[in-house]
Amino acid sequence: MAKKNYYEQLGVDKGANEQDIKAAYRKSVMKYHPDRFATKPEPERKKAEDTFKDINHAYDVLSNAEKKENYDNYGTEEGPKYNGGAGGFDGGFGGFGGFEDIFSQFFGGGGSGRQGGGRSTRTMPVNGDDITMRLDITFEEAIHGCEKTVKVYRTEKCADCKGLGAKDPSKIVDCNVCHGSGVVTAVQNTIFGRQTVRTKCNNCGGKGKVITEKCGTCRGTGIIKKERTIPVAIPAGTDNNQTITYYNEGEAGSNGGANGRLIIIIVVKEHDLFERDGNDLYINIPITISDAVIGGKISVPTTGKNISLTIPAGTQSDTKFRVKGYGVKYLKKDMKGDLYVTVEVEIPQKLNSKQVKLLQEFEASIVAKQYDSKKTFLSKWINK
Ligand SMILES: [Zn+2]
Ligand SMILES: [Zn+2]
Repeated sequence: MAKKNYYEQLGVDKGANEQDIKAAYRKSVMKYHPDRFATKPEPERKKAEDTFKDINHAYDVLSNAEKKENYDNYGTEEGPKYNGGAGGFDGGFGGFGGFEDIFSQFFGGGGSGRQGGGRSTRTMPVNGDDITMRLDITFEEAIHGCEKTVKVYRTEKCADCKGLGAKDPSKIVDCNVCHGSGVVTAVQNTIFGRQTVRTKCNNCGGKGKVITEKCGTCRGTGIIKKERTIPVAIPAGTDNNQTITYYNEGEAGSNGGANGRLIIIIVVKEHDLFERDGNDLYINIPITISDAVIGGKISVPTTGKNISLTIPAGTQSDTKFRVKGYGVKYLKKDMKGDLYVTVEVEIPQKLNSKQVKLLQEFEASIVAKQYDSKKTFLSKWINK
């Protein structure tokens, strides 16, 4: 597709006068300004950007008497080429900075930025940042719950001026430059003539108000840095890496924005004996051969009092017993998980000769069917 000519790009007839061209240009700029496409999908944005460049270039030519004449007569803004001829045209358009300059004159520099020139962001409410902290607790503290504190160094709204930044409210007055509007109108001389531009008032930063006497505590910022000790209630059953969030306890918001959150990540120290999986606890306990063979009662630690666990006669090593309700409390239910006890039969070492003799006598008394696993194993092996 052939590229549109400059007149078509601006949507005007070839005979259009200076005023028509300017009006058409402004309309097109409004329509295709990158700010309007900042959140659009990439292809649409790219297309608008190209169109925007085209209309700016078209206007650059058509708004300049010399370039326009060249374009009208020769179809190019550079005019006729004189190969090796007189250098009269070299730099002949000096004084006009070209496309980039025009661009920046219109849009206060960086026309493609998302925040267009003159648009104020300083008076918009800004929420405070979140503060994230780590809090280490013991295994037992997590199981039973506890009260802790954290030290937070954060920004806060100044209490002396209630965040206003002024010594007292009467020291806040309308800005005498913008008369309270936060916006000033400036007239700029550009190559298009005099342009009226509305920009943020520098005197008041766009707020429309100025402080005649600042608060001494915050020096007019309305915000101070404070170290605070924040109590943290850790509920029974809290698990490793759980977070506790306190709304409003983070960094101070500004211009009426909300404070950030204080997010506390709980790190639970590992226990020497227990392992935790959700609300269940796991423990390995060594037992004697005698306990395993004859059976007996063993003492088992829990997160509370010790309990007594009955080991039945003939218990094999690595047998797991479930002790119901001796696990960890559920955070939102009045019930607990379970405790799983795995017994490990320990083989005694360094027997003396008397013990060896007793064991040999014992072994000799055993009949084949008393070793269940061995019997099964042998039957499979011999039949092969
Ligand atoms: Zn002002
Ligand atoms: Zn203050």
